[in-house]
This record gives sequence, structure tokens and C-alpha cells, in this order.
Amino acid sequence: MELQFTLKGSFKTSADASPAKDVIDAFFTEANETILTKGAPEGEGARIVEWDIDGDRINLVVKSGKHVRVHDALLRVRKPLAAKLGKEFHIGVRGIDVESYIIELPSEKPLGELKIPYVSSIVYDNGIITLTLDVGESELENRVPDRILKLMEDKIAALSYGGKGEHWEILWESEKKEHVFSGDPTKEMVKQGWLKRGASRGQWIHGAQSTRMFRTFERIVVEELLEPLGYNEMIFPKLVPWEVWEKSGHAKGVYPEIYYVCPPKTRDPKYWEEVSDYYKVTHEVPTAMIKEKIGDPIGGMCYAQCPPFWPYLQGETIPTDEFPIKVFDRSGTSHRYESGGIHGMERVDEFHRVEIVWAGTPEQVVAHSKELQERYLHIFNDILELEWRKAWVTPWFMAQEGLDGISEQGEIGTIDYEAPLPYRGDGGEWLEFQNVSVNGNKYPSGFNVKCQSGDELWSGCSGVGLERWSSVFLAQKGLDPDDWPEEFRKRVGEMPRGLRFL
Ligand code: ATP
Ligand code: ZN
Ligand code: MG
Repeated sequence: MELQFTLKGSFKTSADASPAKDVIDAFFTEANETILTKGAPEGEGARIVEWDIDGDRINLVVKSGKHVRVHDALLRVRKPLAAKLGKEFHIGVRGIDVESYIIELPSEKPLGELKIPYVSSIVYDNGIITLTLDVGESELENRVPDRILKLMEDKIAALSYGGKGEHWEILWESEKKEHVFSGDPTKEMVKQGWLKRGASRGQWIHGAQSTRMFRTFERIVVEELLEPLGYNEMIFPKLVPWEVWEKSGHAKGVYPEIYYVCPPKTRDPKYWEEVSDYYKVTHEVPTAMIKEKIGDPIGGMCYAQCPPFWPYLQGETIPTDEFPIKVFDRSGTSHRYESGGIHGMERVDEFHRVEIVWAGTPEQVVAHSKELQERYLHIFNDILELEWRKAWVTPWFMAQEGLDGISEQGEIGTIDYEAPLPYRGDGGEWLEFQNVSVNGNKYPSGFNVKCQSGDELWSGCSGVGLERWSSVFLAQKGLDPDDWPEEFRKRVGEMPRGLRFL
């Protein structure tokens, strides 16, 4: 079967509409052929299939497919009906009551237990999901049923996507290399005192040597890529409130990986006294008591780094000659609650990244992505001498939003940079160590940024993960500077000695 909507409801009238019965009948019959079909392919409009008058109510049953949906049908009918009843019968239309609203949609599989607002039941039977909605007039006006349908369609699409996660297609690959090292670089770094585990989950304290590596990578990026390409450094905030993630789209799905931030309910020391007193007496931090004294989460710690930049441009119209805008941030950490097995530095809960953001017309943004890719190629081939490859991936959010078609055109989407880690063996999974993304109009439109010329604006971003660069470089080259490529050794200088412990 095809997607079907069925709505039972009524128009509330200011008086018994019986005297207008013939006029209403003629109006509905005509509406079924006119206003309820407008914009739909032949025979696929909405239809009022039953109706009657019951005192001060006009009850009706409306059915539709996906084109003119039943709630649109009711809203389309309301005004002209009110005009007819008002002019000829002095009867007003007071509102809409919804008795039942059902969406039936085909799906090869059930979706499992779900809790969705305004949905009172979800039943799967024989290839059909039946949703019963609990909605009223204002939800119809706010197009809540459309959002529910979209959500369900995304979930059904995700089922067929399965574990694949994202589309992956190789774009470029370096030659294979002999690697001088086959150890796990994190283990080796710990052994040689380059870093130590931090007190928090997935967190490291970088000693002098590890820090020197990060700073050298940063300097290479600044000198070989950001300065020649005319970038300006900025400082982006690192606490990200919901309103930013609403506009960037992250509010759609980032929840399992956020480190949440809750402010205190008040900063009055009296209010907090019992917490400090409890600690002073027991030497235990009373987390349950603290939970009572903090507010709802206002957002989370930096996750993707570029979203909190966008409020800087939000609502602005920018002179055409400012574009392409090129800025970067390296002012702080990113935080993600990663899945288990975070044994090494490759996947951590707290990481360091240079985030590169550019914006302009679609042509500028796409052209600039190519310039960046050339610079990266130079860095990875001539300075770091890595074995690596680039792959075109459709980010999950695009696949889910039905944008994979756009990604297939090769403009909007992400390029992942990946490298083998010799210690994982020949068939081992390659590590994504950075990305270059062209995000289309997602950010300019989400944050309402305009170009003076009226041209469409796009943006892109690229995240240089310093832990990932280190992991890849050290996994392939080892920790001995004598084994490092000359161009890198020149830049790193003499490696500092870390602290010794007894
Ligand atoms: P992965 O698939 O490895 O989890 P991702 O797709 O989540 O990576 P992005 O969201 O594209 O990564 O983030 C951009 C860059 O940020 C990555 O290429 C990587 O350099 C870095 N990065 C992301 N997550 C981590 C992490 N947990 N630890 C260290 N670096 C990270
Ligand atoms: Zn970004
Ligand atoms: Mg990830």
C-alpha cells in the first residue's frame, strides 16, 4: 500500500449549521475537485470522504496521500467554508477538533519501541506501520504531522542503511610505504614518558615531547596552509548552548556523545554550604546533592568546534568582497563521550584540533576546498611522508536527510583523510586523521547569514585532529627522531626531555 493519512474531526460552528447543509454539500463536493487537489498529481489530492452535521459541529473524515495532506486539507477548507457560512448564514467557524489522526506507511520491518511526542501508538502489521497521533488544531497549523512523518521516513531509511553508516569511495591513495615501526605509539609514548593518562575518562596529560609534536603539527598547518591561504585566527567559544546546535543541526542527534554542562541554580554561597560542609566532614563529594542544586543542561562542551563560530556572522549581511571568509580556531579542546575501548590516543574523550572554516559563494567554497586539499597533499607527502589516502564519504546526516543524491554530485560532502597504523597489521582498519567538508548552505542558512550581492552562501570546514596526526605519524615513523623525515625533523627541532620519576 501507499502512504495514507486519515483524519476524523470537526469544524466547530457558532450555531447549528443544518440550514446550510446543501451549501456545505456543494462546497465540499467542489473542494474535492479543486482546492484539495491543487499541487497534487492527477487523482492524488485529499478527499473529504464522509461528513455530517451534528448540532454546532460539522464532522468530517478526510483521507489523503503524501501530496495534500489531511491537515493541509482541513486548513485549506477552513477559510472559504467560513466565508460561505458567514455571508449567507451568519454562522462562524470557531475552530477545529481532531477526533483521530492516523498515518499508515509501508515499511519492510518494524521500528521497535519508540517514544515520539504527539504519537499515542505505533503498530506494525504486515508491512504497514500505523501511527495514531494525538494532535489538535495548533499542531495541525504547526505542521507537526509532517515532522512526525519525516522522522519515521528517516528511521525507515536508516533501517535499510543498516550498519553501513556511510557511503565510502576512495579518491586518492599514496604509494605503499615500508614502515620503520610497528608498535602501538600510545604505549610507546607512555613507556618513554611522553604522556600520561589524565584523571578523566579518555583524557591524556601531554608531556613536553607530546606537546612539542602537537605544536609542530600546528606550526606546519599555519606556515604551509593557513598563512599562504590568507587565514585569520579567531577564538571560538568552547561551551556550546542548545541554540547553536539547533541551528547547526547537531541538536538532531548528537546526544549520546555530548559532555553536558549544567550551571548552578544560584551562586549564593549559603545555598552551597551544605555541599562543602558535607565534603569537609566525609571527604566525599556528594554528587546526588549536587544534582539537586544544578540547573538543566544549557548545552555541552565543544563537540564539532565550528558551530559556536557562527553566531559571529548570525543575522548579518556581509559585503560581497569580504568573501571568501577564511578563519581558524585552535583555542581549546573538543569533548566527546566516545564508545568503550578508548585505550590509546587515537580515540579520546578530550582532544585538540585546529578547525578551519571558510565561507563564500558555492564556487568559491568548492574551489577553496581544492586549494586546501593541495596544501594537505604537500604536507603529508613532502613533510610528514605518510602513507595515506582520501575518501569521499556521505556523512550520515546527509544520507538520513535524503541528501546523498547531492553528495553523489561530488560537491557537498566530506573527504576523510585516512592512514594505516602498521601495528594493527596489514588488514587493520585505517584511522581517519582529519577531514575536509563542504557543507553547502547548511550553516549560512541555519544562522541566517547573507551576502550583499544576494548570492547563495556556502561554507566548509576542516578539522585537523592533533591526536590523530600524532597517532598516524608515530605509528608509521616511531618515536626516534633519527627515523623521522628530514623536513619534519627540521621543524621539530631538538626534542625536549620530559620529567623523570623515581
Ligand atoms: P571517527 O569516525 O573516527 O569517530 P568522526 O567522523 O567522529 O571520527 P569528525 O566528527 O569528522 O570525526 O571530526 C573531525 C576530526 O576530529 C576527525 O577527523 C579527527 O581528527 C578528530 N576527532 C574526532 N573525534 C575524535 C576523538 N574521539 N579523538 C581524537 N580526535 C577526534
Ligand atoms: Zn566543522
Ligand atoms: Mg566519531
